[in-house]
Amino acid sequence: HAKYRVAVIGSGNWGSVASRLIASNTAKLPSFYDEVRMWVFEEILPTGKKLSESINEENENCKYLPGIKLGLNVIADPDLESAVKDANMLVFVTPHQFVEGICKKLVGKLRPGAEAISLIKGMEVKMEGPCMISKLIADTLGINCCVLMGANIANEIAVEKFSEATIGYRKDKEVANRWAKLFTTPYFLVSVAEDIEGVELCGTLKNIVAIAAGLVDGLDMGNNTKAAIMRIGLREMRAFSKLLFPSVRDNTFFESCGVADLITTFGGRNRRVAEAFARNGGKRSFDELEAEMLHGQKLQGVSTAREVYEVLTYRGWQELFPLLSTVHEICIGQLPPTSIVEYSEHTPNLS
Ligand code: NAD
Ligand code: 13P
Repeated sequence: HAKYRVAVIGSGNWGSVASRLIASNTAKLPSFYDEVRMWVFEEILPTGKKLSESINEENENCKYLPGIKLGLNVIADPDLESAVKDANMLVFVTPHQFVEGICKKLVGKLRPGAEAISLIKGMEVKMEGPCMISKLIADTLGINCCVLMGANIANEIAVEKFSEATIGYRKDKEVANRWAKLFTTPYFLVSVAEDIEGVELCGTLKNIVAIAAGLVDGLDMGNNTKAAIMRIGLREMRAFSKLLFPSVRDNTFFESCGVADLITTFGGRNRRVAEAFARNGGKRSFDELEAEMLHGQKLQGVSTAREVYEVLTYRGWQELFPLLSTVHEICIGQLPPTSIVEYSEHTPNLS
């Protein structure tokens, strides 16, 4: 029987937690090698020590996941090529803006037959149009790439609180089931859905709705307004996904990657920073607030709003998606934060 070796590309907040979760399974399951190599984007800590060395000495990522042991079979590796060279299961989990550069460095360096999964919420917009991150990985590296999305605030999974996730796949259910086996634990229940675009767009677009929810909080508009904004956001998420990919299924929005992720995002970073942005009346930029509040962690919602806006403008769909458009215009300072609740009278009737 084939035996699988796993590498994780990324070691931020979710990257570290995903490595810990996976390593707890590879240590137990005979079809996987115990060791999980975790690629670390190297940085020097205030102590003068390298982050990768600190992780290996303490078995803990003191910058992105302090206080949590990763498991002794998690090995941090700052060298991208060496981290992936023996692996045939690659888990991509970096902020989406870095993926393209990472993939370019990996061309020709992978083991033949390697498979990938992306835990990354985001998209890229190219001249030819929008490109989901899983497709960017698959096309650049010539490998199959599934996705895993869900209501998954990393810090809660780190302390093993029960949650669920959705794996999206294209055609090959056997591969999807192998990924599900790698990720499933009694506190992390994974289901599979043959709707890769739907699953990935849920995770990606929810970060824009999270920004909208945060703005409403920062304006002290209350629960009903926030619920209305989330509902409008969910409807735009579904309509946008289906316009881009007619194969997207309604049911996907009822999986963990859909409504559940929208709910859990109340506890997330995008919502929190957007609340601070609105409380400051839009006078301090998202970049400034991100640096001050997140200590190296990255927001995905602001850049995703820009990427989606490019698609909307290019295709002439802006009027159909007032929430998605307005979030971007607020983020860049073209509209004040209060505009988040001002378009509702002329919201189009999306089916
Ligand atoms: P993070 O925001 O905690 O950390 C930022 C990471 O980016 C760090 O590892 C840092 O070293 C790295 N980095 C900085 N500059 C870089 C560069 N130039 N090149 C490469 N890497 C660089 O990361 P995260 O929370 O693990 O997020 C990764 C993805 O997972 C995102 O798409 C996010 O939306 C998604 N996600 C996060 C959570 C969560 O709760 N944290 C949950 C679900 C999904
Ligand atoms: P934030 O990036 O806003 O923290 O959201 C985390 C997340 O995606 C939870 O599923």
